[in-house]
Amino acid sequence: MNSAIVVAAGKASRFGQDKMLVDIDGYPLIYRTLQAFIGCDAIHEIIVVVNTNNKQRIEELFSDEPKVFITLGGENRVESVNAGLRLVNRRCDFVVIHDGARPYVTQALLKRVLDVAIKSGSGCAIPYVYPVDTIYMESADGANVVERESLMRVQTPQCFDYQKLCIAYYNAMRASYTDDSQVYRSEYGKLDFVEGDPNNVKVTYPSDVKSIRIGNGVDSHRLVAGRDLILGGVKIPYELGLLGHSDADVLVHAVMDAILSAVGERDIGVLFPDTDPQYKDISSLALLRKVMKTVQAKGRSVKSVSAVIVCEKPKLSEYIPQMCACLSSVVGVPLSCVSISATTTEGMGIIGNGEGIGCMAVCLAE
Ligand code: MG
Repeated sequence: MNSAIVVAAGKASRFGQDKMLVDIDGYPLIYRTLQAFIGCDAIHEIIVVVNTNNKQRIEELFSDEPKVFITLGGENRVESVNAGLRLVNRRCDFVVIHDGARPYVTQALLKRVLDVAIKSGSGCAIPYVYPVDTIYMESADGANVVERESLMRVQTPQCFDYQKLCIAYYNAMRASYTDDSQVYRSEYGKLDFVEGDPNNVKVTYPSDVKSIRIGNGVDSHRLVAGRDLILGGVKIPYELGLLGHSDADVLVHAVMDAILSAVGERDIGVLFPDTDPQYKDISSLALLRKVMKTVQAKGRSVKSVSAVIVCEKPKLSEYIPQMCACLSSVVGVPLSCVSISATTTEGMGIIGNGEGIGCMAVCLAE
């Protein structure tokens, strides 16, 4: 049988909060990390090493998982892994040690380290990737470039022969290693390596957490005489214009609702009520700027916007590049990330008979 030890006991001083519990698309980071292990048939038990602050929450998260056991860690990596090893089933053949802060670990990588460790002469498998940056080594006579191919960035999960690892850790009790492969190497000298996964990053800073969400927005306004027709911030020559409390820019309204939805906020009807005199005849682009401030304040950013205008008349195609440029500048995304198209309903229904214009939009936010 094989066991896993997932270390989630760190202080996370560079992150500013307990990163094990930070939200990634609706689930705490540590919950994401464990999914590859829970789903792997070759792993029979998972020991999560926690700290006194996150213990209760992590216990609650996995209370229904028969494979998961929780234990308190120590002051440093060596102490925490030792605490995990004390709980490992004595019949264990191989033990996989993983950083709790690597939530993007895949079952494929887990299988790879297990397979290589089982076949290896050293009884271990250490995943690595080559650095992509050019690296200099500082020295007394300046700085010299280090050959990238001679450097290996070591990741987890690392897999070890259980009996051999216990001996190595027993002897390393008072040392301050930051990585389990160092402990194993100090005892046995030799390591076997396996190709890692560049996506398997160790979350260290808040920006390492990638969370992508989509948002939807729909709007429609009636066409009337005596109003300007404004779409996407562009004034379009036509005998009718859209009726509304603001300038009734139906495209910008749908886009704003899509953006707000993608960042988990309420819609523009709640944010900018049409009973509020300060929004009377206001340019919808001014409202869009306010929406972008909200996005910023939430630490989110818009990646792309796509909209479809549903309109029988007038023909809009020649104005679309201008609308895209306008949205791109206000939303703050490259022109290539804004797409606007226009369609008709072929004369059917209230839009088809020219009573109004509708718009649908989607937004991708990170
Ligand atoms: Mg509207």
